[in-house]
Amino acid sequence: MSKLPAQVNLVIAFSTRRHGDMSLYYGGISEALNNRRDFLSSLGIDYRDLVCARQIHGDRVRYATEEDKGSGANSYGGSIPDTDAFITDKKNVPIAVFTADCLSIFIYDPKTPSIGLVHAGWRSSKKKIVSKAISLMQAKFNTKPQDFYVGFGSSIRGCCCEVSSDFKSYFSDGLTEKNGRFYLDLAGLNKNELLTLGLKEENIFPPQDCTFCHNDAFFSYRKEGLACGRQMSVIMLK
Ligand SMILES: [Zn+2]
Repeated sequence: MSKLPAQVNLVIAFSTRRHGDMSLYYGGISEALNNRRDFLSSLGIDYRDLVCARQIHGDRVRYATEEDKGSGANSYGGSIPDTDAFITDKKNVPIAVFTADCLSIFIYDPKTPSIGLVHAGWRSSKKKIVSKAISLMQAKFNTKPQDFYVGFGSSIRGCCCEVSSDFKSYFSDGLTEKNGRFYLDLAGLNKNELLTLGLKEENIFPPQDCTFCHNDAFFSYRKEGLACGRQMSVIMLK
């Protein structure tokens, strides 16, 4: 594992069950706003600045700027529509995605500097959303693959994510077969996709614990159903 540069002007965090439900859509709004305020203030972020998306399991990547600050911070309806990833090179623009089993992917280029954050469920992973986020960062910020650092939020892993055999036609990577059943590892397949883009393996942090196995610590859609809470992934340049 290579070390991040000594001067990292970055805030990066992933909430857990302990921090409470962060969703303005799947839970109580006032409770979620309180949870967001507490979690983000501990990171030095004003929750009213948060940039959120109406995530649709698509592959649209949004370049977030100062004008987007506060989108979806107070109400779900104010979120940026039809978006599953953000990139930015602007300071003090906190970008967020919300997950409960889906994978979040944190991207950081210390040289430009610039950041990205991707909501990668299987549908978005099938559409190669992380490649699209990386290529938009390259186009807009002139970043180079060898300069990127990447980390993952906790997600459901190959131990628990059983899928139908149709997935064999969706993914050439990330599937394992056990006793005739198929299991998908979102973190593993996205990591391999990043390696094919030219990112350095030592700059990619290892994937995190499985949300289904560790349901005591994380909300899990597969374990608890659609109305379970959501974890927040957040990243901001300082
Ligand atoms: Zn598991």
